Amino acid sequence: MKIQDFTRIIPKQGHEEWPNKLGQMIALFYQAEYQTVKKKLRTAAIIHVNSNNLQTFLEKVNKDQLVFTFIRKTALFNGFSSLVKPVKEGEPFIWIGCLTRTYKEGEKFKEADLKNDHRTVGQMLGYPDCCIDYFISTFPIDPCPIWVNLEGEIKGYPECNGMLRYFGPIITAHLSCSPTCQATREIGKTWFKVMQEIDKDLANEIYNLLTGPITWNSYHGVIQIETPYFVGLNSGLFILKKPRIIKWQGVKEISNKKTSLKLKKPKVKKRVNKKFTFFSKHQ
Ligand SMILES: [Zn+2]
Repeated sequence: MKIQDFTRIIPKQGHEEWPNKLGQMIALFYQAEYQTVKKKLRTAAIIHVNSNNLQTFLEKVNKDQLVFTFIRKTALFNGFSSLVKPVKEGEPFIWIGCLTRTYKEGEKFKEADLKNDHRTVGQMLGYPDCCIDYFISTFPIDPCPIWVNLEGEIKGYPECNGMLRYFGPIITAHLSCSPTCQATREIGKTWFKVMQEIDKDLANEIYNLLTGPITWNSYHGVIQIETPYFVGLNSGLFILKKPRIIKWQGVKEISNKKTSLKLKKPKVKKRVNKKFTFFSKHQ
């Protein structure tokens, strides 16, 4: 069955500015991804550049004395996806590549990416080992970006919350291994400071949004995500037989030992698709 790939944002009454705001949030996160390499907080970032903006982008990279290594192209499309789509001649497209501080690092990243060496790729992107392990063991089987074995009422840190990643607001780029992954939280704190340096008010709005409440519901190949300001729809990567619903409430501190959620091995059917990579989104 062919998977439909779509993203829709429906603002709630009185919150009509949210589709625009989400666009600004995406732009802020892209800037933060770039800055985390420039500031030496990690070795590499995956960057998606619209072919129409390539010259401006490369001029900025040169000025910052960074290196952009081309990896692959994909067609432009609405929303975000992990899937690479064929480019049609004469139409604008997106270059996917990596930003590093040296040529050697760029080549190392590209080689690891082409070999599907997720560990090297993840480490160069500055992702925690626990989350790299989770990605390697889970994502090729169940490419859902939200903790595959969880449902119901879930508490966790906003830094770990990837529920809105297809609409823009995130603090960390990787898929967190759990809602309470401490390593993700620490990285998130650093990244969040970078985001605040770029635009403090907007960064704080992202933080508050990811703190929740959010209801995430995956069923019939559609994921519906409700926040206080908008309802977001995006394609589920496969059809579930019954709804999986997560009622999210973010917390700044978790003191109760019971909430240190241990992940069970995901019980999902084997469904390997090598097209999926660490790439989290497209511009
Ligand atoms: Zn983790």
